[in-house]
Amino acid sequence: RAKDAGGNRYELADPDSDARAIDRHSLTNRLPTALERDEFFLEYQPLIRMSDGHIDGAEALVRWKHPVHGLLGPDRFIPLAEHTGLIVPLGRWVLEQAVRQACAWHEERSAETRAKAKSNGKGKGKGKSAGTSGAGGDFRPLRVNVNLSPRQLHHPDLVPDTVAVLEAAGMEPSSLCLEVTESALIGADEDELKPLRQLAELGVEIALDDFGTGYSNLANLRRLPATTLKLDRSFTQGLQQHPADPADVTFVEGIVTLAHALGLAVTVEGVETEHQASKLRDLGCDTAQGWYYARPGPPSSFQQGFAVLP
Ligand code: C2E
Ligand code: MG
Ligand code: MG
Ligand code: MG
Repeated sequence: RAKDAGGNRYELADPDSDARAIDRHSLTNRLPTALERDEFFLEYQPLIRMSDGHIDGAEALVRWKHPVHGLLGPDRFIPLAEHTGLIVPLGRWVLEQAVRQACAWHEERSAETRAKAKSNGKGKGKGKSAGTSGAGGDFRPLRVNVNLSPRQLHHPDLVPDTVAVLEAAGMEPSSLCLEVTESALIGADEDELKPLRQLAELGVEIALDDFGTGYSNLANLRRLPATTLKLDRSFTQGLQQHPADPADVTFVEGIVTLAHALGLAVTVEGVETEHQASKLRDLGCDTAQGWYYARPGPPSSFQQGFAVLP
């Protein structure tokens, strides 16, 4: 340690962390204006239903186009926004954008379906209930997943804001999934869980993000208003080895069994290879997300149906 070394070693102490501190400071200062200046944008990564390979929804992931530092990922600035409280307006912006985007996709798909039905000469029903079922297409609206950080979770406006955004967009609550990390809920008492419970009762899906990393009491699962477990990427990585790490296989198997017994769906994160995908499908996972299927991309990549999907 620099301190023990004495003298001018102080100056040499971990220049990296100095740079990071300066960085943090300047990023933190810039955060509030960044929102006003429209420097944030969202990318979307598809969620794939493992049974048939169809796109089930998309997770919205925020990015910051910083005028000096370039493109910044959320790991660089979400903790700062959480610390300063800017996460509340930023999170509301993310929610609004994501819900609007999901509605736009839905409109497009409905229009496509109506057009197809019409050109097939089956378009007599005027497509009034477009999106649920009908002549040319039978699809549910795409679900959009939005990450919530702990500070948002504890903000009194979470429920009214979310309801207002859904109502303004005319979106079914079940087309929204809020992702909350498992660790954010550890030790939460009934009062702290109430907003999430209210949202779940309205039909909003709740996913426990990065599941398996938080050391939470499994018995705790029963009292959380979650509808989905999102298994952390680290377990997916363990399955890549040949043969797969037996501990990871056992863990995933056990979690899937437990989750299904509790009526929860299982999504897996970080699927990068075909090998992982087929292994996780065999283990009973319901939905998958990862570079093997598609990297996060602009809404337009979604409109084109993620042509790259294997
Ligand atoms: P997360 O919610 O667990 O999101 C998944 C992360 O894994 C994303 O990183 C995604 O790009 C990345 N990923 C997806 N597939 C793969 C893969 O196959 N391999 C690998 N190595 N990585 C993959 P990203 O976009 O950097 O986001 C990091 C974290 O930042 C998110 O983790 C989430 O906790 C947080 N975050 C992102 N957007 C928001 C937001 O709008 N609000 C809040 N509060 N947090 C956000
Ligand atoms: Mg997430
Ligand atoms: Mg995650
Ligand atoms: Mg993660």
